[in-house]
Amino acid sequence: MHELGHAVMDEAYKDNFPAAPNCFPTHFIQAVSSAGCAWTEGFADWYQAAVYADPEYAGDGFTVGLEGPTWGTPDWDNGDAVEGRVAGAMNDIADSAAEPYWDNYGEGAPGHLWDTFLNHRSATFHDFWNQRGTDNFDVSDGPLGSLFQNTIDYGFRNPLADNQSLTRPDPLTPHNYHFTTTTVFWPVVALRPPAGADYDLFLYGDRPQTQLLAASQLGAGTTDFVAVDSNRRPLGDYYPQVRAISGHGPYQIELAQGASQLPAASSATIPMGANDVVAVRDVCGVTAGSTVTLTVTPSDPGQDAELFLMGSDPAQPSTFVQPRSASVAQAAGAGPGQPESLTYTATSAGCFGAVVVNKGGVGTYTLTRS
Ligand SMILES: [Zn+2]
Repeated sequence: MHELGHAVMDEAYKDNFPAAPNCFPTHFIQAVSSAGCAWTEGFADWYQAAVYADPEYAGDGFTVGLEGPTWGTPDWDNGDAVEGRVAGAMNDIADSAAEPYWDNYGEGAPGHLWDTFLNHRSATFHDFWNQRGTDNFDVSDGPLGSLFQNTIDYGFRNPLADNQSLTRPDPLTPHNYHFTTTTVFWPVVALRPPAGADYDLFLYGDRPQTQLLAASQLGAGTTDFVAVDSNRRPLGDYYPQVRAISGHGPYQIELAQGASQLPAASSATIPMGANDVVAVRDVCGVTAGSTVTLTVTPSDPGQDAELFLMGSDPAQPSTFVQPRSASVAQAAGAGPGQPESLTYTATSAGCFGAVVVNKGGVGTYTLTRS
C-alpha cells in the first residue's frame, strides 16, 4: 500500500515525481533524509495509514506507530525532513483524536489533505502546507499544533486563554504562545518552572517575534512574569516565548486577565489550585504621594505566595510592558503559610497592577488593600 501511494503521487503529479535527495539506497521513517524525500516517503507512509484507517507504518516485519512520537521521543529526529514526522502530522490533521500536548485539532477525515494533494504538485511538505493555505483550508494555530506535536514548527503560537494555566513538558525547543488583551486592566503572563530549573519568559509584540517588548530572566526555581498596562497600552496581540536555560521538567504557564479592581479598604479571595500560577487585580484611584498597602494571606500552610505591585510611567511607553524585576514594590520572602505584605508610596497617579504569584500549594489567598 505504501508503494501504491508512490504510484498515486506519480500519477497525480503527471509523471513529474518530486526530487528526493538522500532517499536511496536507504531511508528511515525516524531519520532526517531531505525535505523532498520526507515528503514523497511521508506521503506514502500516510497513504497506507489513511487507506487502512490505522495510524501506523507497517514495514517488512516491523511496525512504527505514527501517533506516539513527539518532541523528545528516543531515536526520532525532528522536523519536516523526517518522513515519519510528515506522516504523523498528516495523520493528526485528519484524525479527531487529541494528543497531549499540542494536537487538539482534527478534521475527522482525510478529504481536505486529499484535495490539496490533487490540486497541486508539492515538492516538499512545506510546499504542501502553503498550498493548503491557498486552498483556503485551515492553516491556523489549531492544525499548526498538530504539526508541532510532530516536531514540525511552521509558526505555531499556542493560544493562552484567560486565567487557565497550561502544563507543558520540557521546552526542548522554544515554546511559543499567543494571547490577546481584551480588557483595559493589567494582564500578566507568568511562567513557573520546575524545581531547580531556569526557564525564561520573553514577550513579543508581533507574531514573527521580531519586536521584543520585555523579558523576565530570573534564576532557577523563580516564577518569571511579564505584565502589560492595558490601561495605557492599546489592546492587541502578544506573543510569549518560553526558553529553557538550564534544568528539565514540566512547567506551568498562565495568562491572568480580567476586569477586577481591588478598591481601597477591600479584600478579594483568590482560589488557587496546584497548577494555578498567577492572579492580578487593578489598584486604581491612587494619587501621587498616597500610600498603597497590600497583604496576601494564604488559607493553607502549604501555600506560598509572592506579591508584587506594578506601575507604569505615562511619559515612558516602554514601561507599559515590564518584567517582574521592574515591579515598584514586592514581598516574596516569607515562605509557605505566611502572609506577604508590601507598602508603596506613589510618585504618580494611575492604576497599578497587584500581582499574586502562587509559588506552590493549594488553597485560597485573601488579598487585602488597606
Ligand atoms: Zn517509499
